[in-house]
Amino acid sequence: MTVRPTISIVTPFFNEQDATTAYYRGVCDALAKVQDCDFEIVCVDDGSKDDTLNRLIALSESDPRVQVIELSRNFGKEAALTAGLEAAQGDAVVPIDADLQDPPELIPAMIEAWRDGAEIVLARRVDRSSDSFLKRKTAALFYRVHNQLSAVQIPENVGDFRLMDRVVVDAVRQLPEQQRFMKGLFAWVGFKTVSLDYARKPRAAGTTKFSGIRLWNLALEGITSFSSIPLRVWSYVGLAFALVTMMYAGAILFATLVYGVVVPGYASLLVFILFFGSVQLISVGVLGEYIGRIYMETKSRPLFLVRRRYGTKPAARSVSRNA
Ligand code: UDP
Ligand code: MG
Repeated sequence: MTVRPTISIVTPFFNEQDATTAYYRGVCDALAKVQDCDFEIVCVDDGSKDDTLNRLIALSESDPRVQVIELSRNFGKEAALTAGLEAAQGDAVVPIDADLQDPPELIPAMIEAWRDGAEIVLARRVDRSSDSFLKRKTAALFYRVHNQLSAVQIPENVGDFRLMDRVVVDAVRQLPEQQRFMKGLFAWVGFKTVSLDYARKPRAAGTTKFSGIRLWNLALEGITSFSSIPLRVWSYVGLAFALVTMMYAGAILFATLVYGVVVPGYASLLVFILFFGSVQLISVGVLGEYIGRIYMETKSRPLFLVRRRYGTKPAARSVSRNA
């Protein structure tokens, strides 16, 4: 740790024009409370269609701590965050959402904990009452299922908002996967972790970018990234059904020997055919989830493309136009 460390604040922005001012003010107020630290604020514009980019550029012109990375299109939050982590040069990095749902007021306490020796300082939401009932329930279900299936335990109610030491950031950056389920990757790397609690607030402005279907895909991403149990379970399902089928065959044989041929059975036959057909389709679907991901992974496309960078930075990168 240097004598006067630099802390990087990293934020992805996607159509957040109404949130930028409040975001900047909130972050600045929080940072003003921290002594003996330098800061850089890395804003990643994830292909916003509104005025977000211009507002961020204006911020970067008035405040030398702010730098802006403009991605060539919307790559999604995980990619935008990766872009930000790659650009961040601080001794510690704090990813934080643009909508102030992650309170910047917590940053001084995080830095305090980091200075006391923690390598990761998690911010845990103790009160999610600002999220809808459905979102809370599905989130809880996701954590339960994920942690059952995966060896890597994702701490419940912890988002991307956290402080990470440089060693942790470098470790996360080293992970080669294309499909980056950040929460999982952050958990996978380990390191000395402490938690701080906070109450999750409603969005400061704008609307959520995560619809039901996007959250569902994120959940699938999480589970398939960290567990192969959904793939392997089918042998056992098949085995169990084979056993049941054999017992049923025995029962039919017995009934036929004792009572003679019993013709009715159309309904049960149809039910069994449809049932096993569905089970097979589900298992093929699960295979597809994994194969699709293997396919995307083998392409090794870059995770994001940078159109331009704005804001003062070390000379080497200030003119670079590409990732
Ligand atoms: N975000 C992004 N790209 C996207 C979707 C979201 O960079 O494709 C950013 C968004 O601007 C915000 C953060 O990710 O800073 C979290 O998004 P949001 O608040 O909509 O998620 P929620 O809090 O509802 O889970
Ligand atoms: Mg939000």
